[in-house]
Order: sequence, then C-alpha cells, then structure tokens
Amino acid sequence: MREEFETDFENRIVSARFTPSDAEEEATEEVSLRPQRLSDYVGQEKIKDNLRVFIEAAKLRGEALDHILLYGPPGLGKTTLSHIIANEMGVGIKITSGPAIEKPGDLAAILSSLSAGDVLFIDEIHRLSRSIEEILYPAMEDFALDIMMGQGPAARSIRIPLEKFTLIGATTRAGSLSSPLRDRFGMLMRLEMYTKEELARIVSRSADILGIPIQPKGALEIAGRSRGTPRIANRLLKRVRDFAMVKGDGVITDGIASLALERLEVDSLGLDQIDRRILEAIIRNFSGGPVGLETLSATVGEETVTIEDVYEPYLMQIGFLSRTPRGRCVTPHAYRHLGIAVPGNTAQQLSMEGLSKEEA
Ligand code: ADP
Repeated sequence: MREEFETDFENRIVSARFTPSDAEEEATEEVSLRPQRLSDYVGQEKIKDNLRVFIEAAKLRGEALDHILLYGPPGLGKTTLSHIIANEMGVGIKITSGPAIEKPGDLAAILSSLSAGDVLFIDEIHRLSRSIEEILYPAMEDFALDIMMGQGPAARSIRIPLEKFTLIGATTRAGSLSSPLRDRFGMLMRLEMYTKEELARIVSRSADILGIPIQPKGALEIAGRSRGTPRIANRLLKRVRDFAMVKGDGVITDGIASLALERLEVDSLGLDQIDRRILEAIIRNFSGGPVGLETLSATVGEETVTIEDVYEPYLMQIGFLSRTPRGRCVTPHAYRHLGIAVPGNTAQQLSMEGLSKEEA
C-alpha cells in the first residue's frame, strides 16, 4: 500500500487533487467533512465577507446570484464553497466538469434542466472546448440557448429561454480561460492557501466530526505539514489516526503526528519525495537555476501542467522556488531545508535571496 503512495503520483499522500482513494473514502464515510454553511467554512475571510453581501442582496431582490469564477490551486475548497453558496441561497446545485462535457448537446441538456435560481458548478472550466464554451455565452448573458436548425443557406437559429441560474466556474488557472468566458463572470474570487492556524482549526473540526481524540498541538503538527491545503490536512488526519490507534492510545498528540508523518515521508514542511526530487534536480543539474519549465519537466519526468499546478504553487508559497523571466530558481531557503550547502554569494545567489520570501 505504502509503495503505491511513493510511486503513484495521483495517490501520493500530499496530493492536493481529489484522488481515487479520496473518492472511495468519501463514498464509504457516513459523515461529511465538508462544511455546509459559510459560518463553518474556515478562512478565506475576504471571500466570505463579499459573498455574505452578494447573497443577501440577491435574496432581497429575489434574483439569482451573479455568475462566480473561483480560482486557485486544487483542494482549497472551491467545490465546498459552491455547495455552501447553493445552501445559503436555498437553491439546488448541479455539478459537472469541463472534461465531462463532451458535446454541445450535453451542456444544453444540463442547462435546460436547471430550475430558477439553481447553481450550476463546472469544475475545471478552463477545459471546456471552444464550441461548448459558445453555448455558455448566451446562456450566461441572456439566459437562453441558441440552437441552429438545418444546414447551409436554410440554416436558422432559434432561441430557447432558460431559467435564470448562477454559474460557478472553478479553475486552477484563471489565465487559461478565454477572455470572452472570463468577462461573463460578475465575480472573480481567488482562493488563498490557508495558514497553519486555519488548517489546525480544520483538522480539529474534522477530528471532532470523525470522533478522533486530538490535542491542539497534534492538530498544529498536522496543519504544518498540509501545504496550505484543507484536502491534504483531512487526508493526513485520517492516516495519523491509524498510527495513533496502533502505536499509541488513540489520541493524536504532536509526538504521534510527527512520528506518523515521518513514516509517511511527509517532512516538517509537508514536502514529499517528488517535491524534493524537483528541488534537487534544479540544484544538481542546473546549479540552482534558472531552468525553463520544459527542461525541468523532461528532467523530473512530470508534465509541465502538473509542475505548474500541483508542485510550484506551494514551493513558491514557502519561498523555496522563484519564477524569473529566465526560468525557475531554487532559493537558499530550499538548500538549507534539504541540507545542501548554499553555493557562494554569487550575484545570482544574492538576487535569489532578494527574490525569496521569508519562510512561511
Ligand atoms: P477544491 O474543489 O478546491 O479542489 P474541495 O472543495 O473539494 O476543494 O475541498 C477539499 C476538502 O477540504 C473538502 O472535502 C472539505 O472537507 C475541505 N475543506 C475545503 N475548504 C475548507 C474550509 N474552508 N473549511 C473547512 N474544510 C474545508
């Protein structure tokens, strides 16, 4: 089982993505860890404050909420927030994703099945094909479907009205969205990585729901290794619970948490072997950088999008990696963390010190 975590990218324990084993656990779990209300949703204060105003105003006017684009790395709570928005508005929600909608007709069918005020959540919306995107434009703007009837000179378009709905699009990369689509969202909201304290609150809340005894220091220890990501925090909590039951008396203390996470090869900052491989590759093969994304991808054997979406956001957040116009550079903080001597104070090193953020 552990072997799998070490080699299978999708199943690595610090993957921020929703993995097949998450799906299995979610399906068999009797209780959901997903908060149902804005008041239970930890962190993201700015977004919550704005949403409270928009939701109240839409309710007062008796209208559907304006379309919302949520963006940020995976596992930060975009799907959860969409459910909460639907709950707070008191409307239904339909969930789909960019890659799941293959034909324009698929989207037309979903749109025409929505009731007034419903939320349509499209995950990975940047992966919609252009022809499908075009169905969305009149749907978002005029709440209508434009259907082409016939072919050639006899072709004509007929317009079918839709109920007023709210589209919530989620994406890990707002930059990949076409501008006509992006412009049709009334609100763009960027989810930030969570602080250690916020993650500790999430861990304690989840432990409470799952009936796992945990000490505040144990929650902080897990939080510190969760890469700013609630999905990872919840996953680590479940694995640490196993260790607490077998190696301790069932209570998660900071000692048990750090023992468990060391065994799982998640280090004190939440880095696993793949992160270390990326950093070490830049250090050993490219003298710390700069190295272009394509070259790095070929060296470590991960796709460029995976490096950009999955690994880099956290490595940049903790100030281990910087993006410069000439490529990626490893900062001295990363050298120190990996126990590798920082090369002499060359001009490049000094500028890297300047570029790097303080350790989170
Ligand atoms: P995304 O859609 O951004 O990939 P999800 O909404 O699926 O992320 O969130 C992943 C998990 O993390 C959820 O199951 C939920 O339990 C938890 N979670 C996310 N955000 C929060 C939050 N703000 N407070 C509490 N739990 C959260």
